[in-house]
Amino acid sequence: MAVPRNRHSNARKNSKRAHDAKQPKATVLCTNCKAHKLPHRACMSCGFYNGRSVIHEDIE
Ligand SMILES: [Zn+2]
Repeated sequence: MAVPRNRHSNARKNSKRAHDAKQPKATVLCTNCKAHKLPHRACMSCGFYNGRSVIHEDIE
């Protein structure tokens, strides 16, 4: 494994990490109830995905 020959300065380390900040989670609007939901996931408020109900809470 390669071993670094020279130590990076704090400024070089910090500028390298300038783009590493955590980003907010991406959300899309549900086409059925307009609530915010995660993309490619069923809606947690109405249970719809791709225009149909996929979460059936009434099944025993
Ligand atoms: Zn919904």
